[in-house]
Amino acid sequence: MDRVFNFNPGPSTLPVSVLEEAAKDLVNYKGSGMSIMEHSHRGKEYEAAHNEAISLIKELYKVPENFDVLFLQGGASLQFAMIPMCLLRDGKKALYVNTGTWSQKAIKEAKILGKKFDIIATSEPDNFNNIPAIPAIKNDGEIDYVYITSNNTIFGTEFHKLPETNGIPLIIDASSDIFSAPIDWKNIGVLFAGAQKNAGPSGVAVVIIRKDLYDREPANVPSMLRYTTHAKENSLYNTPPTFSIYVIGLVMKWIKSLGGIDAMYTINKEKAKMVYDAIDNSNGFYKGHAVKESRSLMNITFTLPKPELDDKFVSEAKALGLYGLKGHRSVGGMRASTYNAMPVEGCKVLSEFMKKFAADNK
Ligand SMILES: *Cc1c(COP(=O)(O)O)cnc(C)c1O
Repeated sequence: MDRVFNFNPGPSTLPVSVLEEAAKDLVNYKGSGMSIMEHSHRGKEYEAAHNEAISLIKELYKVPENFDVLFLQGGASLQFAMIPMCLLRDGKKALYVNTGTWSQKAIKEAKILGKKFDIIATSEPDNFNNIPAIPAIKNDGEIDYVYITSNNTIFGTEFHKLPETNGIPLIIDASSDIFSAPIDWKNIGVLFAGAQKNAGPSGVAVVIIRKDLYDREPANVPSMLRYTTHAKENSLYNTPPTFSIYVIGLVMKWIKSLGGIDAMYTINKEKAKMVYDAIDNSNGFYKGHAVKESRSLMNITFTLPKPELDDKFVSEAKALGLYGLKGHRSVGGMRASTYNAMPVEGCKVLSEFMKKFAADNK
């Protein structure tokens, strides 16, 4: 079978050229007689790939000098716990914005740890169809961080402007929009992402952390759960997921070859517009879940006039090579995940199919 257009939410599509390069080098990595997976994580071959991935992330995402780029295990989900465990001090509190399932999971971990926090804004009453207005945040020295989920993978909403935190570190779960658009690092304390949506294969989280926050770590956190353990050892304290990190490096080289993250952002806007136009120009046949101002460029959620049409849509789309469109049960309908690696052509074929499907099923 030929390659399909894979709209899965995560793990998700990877650039074909990245897969081909990984395949070419798989059995005999750069003439070393073994694959990158078989190399020691302490050897020069792997270390070069590891450091190149870090330096390309810094270069392309314009990460300031006072940040570290770490590769940690446990996915984005472990960050939900490590953030309050290491960065929320006793006697201080955190502010959380609740924009959906992933924010709720992060809040749950702060609660389990018995930490103090407030939820300062939520879009739960609207089934998370928007990014709520965030009240002005006063920096009175009592707040350790402000926490947001920049892109809500399930509901299809995205922050298009980061909240003004007046110097309080902003913690961002960017699992589904990391590297999709340039970012202003001004207030950011930590930006993290499970790699498997927009950065590479599963098995690793990319954690970009401001170094002055290390001072907050309490003494009673186990070694593997401390940012400083991994920072001191350049994410080589224990054996990292070497193959996944190597592929992240290839993805970064691919982004660079296309002109970097600004270029990626331009392409992402163009792709999302094709699909949103198909929704907006369907005379109400398709209904977008997210309100327009909060629409995500990465996960496009919409419903059909009756749920009975869902299976028909999915199977006809599949016949055209459009995979992974079934929506999450909390929204219903469809979700098209249009991450960096989704080709423009995929969104074009999808939008044309949507037009035809609407006309045939009015
Ligand atoms: C997928 C996802 C997660 C969970 O990632 P894991 O790496 O599976 O733990 C967290 N946050 C967001 C926004 C996600 O999309």
